[in-house]
Amino acid sequence: MLAVGIAALLGCATLAAMPFAGVRLEGTEPVLPAYAAGLAVVEIMTGVLLLATLTLSRHRAVTVVAAGYLFSGLLAIPWAISFPGVFPALGLDVDVQSTATLAAVRRLGFASSLLAYAALRLADGPESGRGQSKGSLLACVFAVAAAAVAVSVLALSGVGKLPRFMANTREVAPLWSYVPAAAMTLYVLTAGMLLAARRSVLDLWVTVVVFTLAMELFLLSYVAGGTRLTIGWWTGRVLGLVSASMVLTVLVSQTAILYARLADTTARDRQDREARLTVMEALSASIAHEINQPLSSMVTNAYAALRWLGKPEPHVPEATAALQDIVGDGHRAGRIVEETRSIFRKTGGERELLDLPAVLEEALDRLRFDVARAGVRLAVEPFRGPVIVSGNRIQLEQVVCNLVTNALEALRGIVGRERLVTIRCRREGNWAVISFADNGPGVAQPQASRIFDPFFSTKSNGMGMGLMVCRTVIEAHGGQLWLEPDAGAGATFSLRLPALDQGRDGGRE
Ligand code: ADP
Repeated sequence: MLAVGIAALLGCATLAAMPFAGVRLEGTEPVLPAYAAGLAVVEIMTGVLLLATLTLSRHRAVTVVAAGYLFSGLLAIPWAISFPGVFPALGLDVDVQSTATLAAVRRLGFASSLLAYAALRLADGPESGRGQSKGSLLACVFAVAAAAVAVSVLALSGVGKLPRFMANTREVAPLWSYVPAAAMTLYVLTAGMLLAARRSVLDLWVTVVVFTLAMELFLLSYVAGGTRLTIGWWTGRVLGLVSASMVLTVLVSQTAILYARLADTTARDRQDREARLTVMEALSASIAHEINQPLSSMVTNAYAALRWLGKPEPHVPEATAALQDIVGDGHRAGRIVEETRSIFRKTGGERELLDLPAVLEEALDRLRFDVARAGVRLAVEPFRGPVIVSGNRIQLEQVVCNLVTNALEALRGIVGRERLVTIRCRREGNWAVISFADNGPGVAQPQASRIFDPFFSTKSNGMGMGLMVCRTVIEAHGGQLWLEPDAGAGATFSLRLPALDQGRDGGRE
């Protein structure tokens, strides 16, 4: 679309210039070196960039067109130097035919390379093998440069032996008419082949280049009648520069897009890696979090056992009980590690049919001392009867312990009123619902949306894993865990699990 738009715009420019094509622009010679320098730089850069793309994938067609751009760019330099009246200060005594010979070789050489490109595109297809080595590309650059130097030397030194293209410094001789005719034929053939072979973006843009070159030639040779430095001639020159810049612009923008895509992919890769890392960190942090409780209990029991045994008359039964507790805690720690791993393996751990009220009671029993030490009253409104769930005892107990421990920690700063944690159990259809309410400071709004995120904690020594693990466990059991919105003073966390019995006599309706 863009290519067609540009071609149309250039067509309009050609038409607009036609009425004034023959008007001579005196004294414009000094502009010529700037034009030639621009043309040379653009064409040489295009050639080099095209060659650079060949290190990625080998295309004979691209090699040929890159060589064409290099050759044409290099020849623009001697063409400008030899242009009559451009560098009088250099005292160059160049034959008037030299410039025209260089122009003819340059134009026909480039047109031939475009035709070869089109022919090879038609023959080769889009892809032909792996990239070319840097050595072979350098050899290509040297060969083209050598050819350009040879042509320049011959054209600049062959005074008297060159074809008579020019009648004088401005008007062309009849012999010149073969050059635009030959070039035009090459352009038409190239355009035809490219339209048949068109597969890549480069094909499309080379087609536009050919179209622009044809218009340039039309202006230069037919509209301006081959007379140099007229409006038609200069318009043609500008078209030539535009056409030379076109492939370069496409190449540079394609490269920029490629780089942007590459940067995007790299960023996404990094995010994936970080996400994987977070899961690893979450796994290790959650193991540490869950195992802390049995560990501290083991340490307390070990001290107790040492004290019982260190007395003048060792109390063996008490010491034995403490040591048995240590063994129990050790086993529990081992099971927690196994369970935590299974949560992250998404296997859900070992399942069995459980009586939920019994699981709750057992977990609360383990917390008896912590509740008493925190000066908290625990009010429990139990289920009315058994509630059967399918689940993992250790994991569900862990959830209860976490929620109650969080409530105890939240109540730590409360003075001057009773510290209260209320646990309410009820049935809602096939769901068994347990709420843990405390009359602590509650959860402020900005934090409320983040408290289930891993590593979110407002405590100086908190790991921010507890609620995340709780939610993972409850969801793995087919249930939900949430923070009640607007639950009044304090915070209320509720969980629900699918109950397997009918629930008629299983709880408070
Ligand atoms: P941690 O205990 O390591 O902070 P949690 O995941 O258990 O991690 O809790 C995350 C955060 O949620 C806590 O830091 C706290 O700010 C908030 N929170 C949890 N429970 C309560 C509660 N009962 N009352 C007030 N805030 C709470």
